[in-house]
Amino acid sequence: MIYFVHESSYIDNDVVIGEATKIWHFCHVHKGARIGSKCSLGQNVNIGDNVVIGNNVKIQNNVSVYEGVILEDYVFCGPSMVFTNDLTPRSMFPKGAEAFKKTLVKYGATIGANATIVCGNTIGKWAMIAAGAVVTNDVADYALMVGVPAKQIGWVCQCGEPLRNNYSCKFCGRSYYLDNQQLKEKD
Ligand SMILES: [Zn+2]
Repeated sequence: MIYFVHESSYIDNDVVIGEATKIWHFCHVHKGARIGSKCSLGQNVNIGDNVVIGNNVKIQNNVSVYEGVILEDYVFCGPSMVFTNDLTPRSMFPKGAEAFKKTLVKYGATIGANATIVCGNTIGKWAMIAAGAVVTNDVADYALMVGVPAKQIGWVCQCGEPLRNNYSCKFCGRSYYLDNQQLKEKD
């Protein structure tokens, strides 16, 4: 086996797991899920039916990635953060998988501990969602989002450092510019 699954975890049939991925204690990966290479799933992680996860994704303890969620490469999900896939759930009137709202988390984005991502939204690449934030709208690339409901208070560098003056990072030297309210990296 070219990936690792702890003996306490369950992997359903028709699941693809990439090379060097590690799945730790008490996880469940449901049927049809696709997990890329070099990912890490911490303790008590649940991956729903048909979920698609890219490469180098880190999912910390106690996270459920429900059907309808897509995680691109290098996404980081902090401990006990929450995804959803139904805006108006009722026990009496289940909608079924076709009605689930999609959530897309783009390349390199970070979701902090205990944050909630309401379904139907897209989180831009390299965005940073603070611990405990509740995301109720689309999030721009590189946006720093805090609070309930989450509001943008600034921008973050690819390296994770908040950007202050001139959109250049004192920490790693990358620099950016604003183009029609979107942050872009300078070549
Ligand atoms: Zn930086």
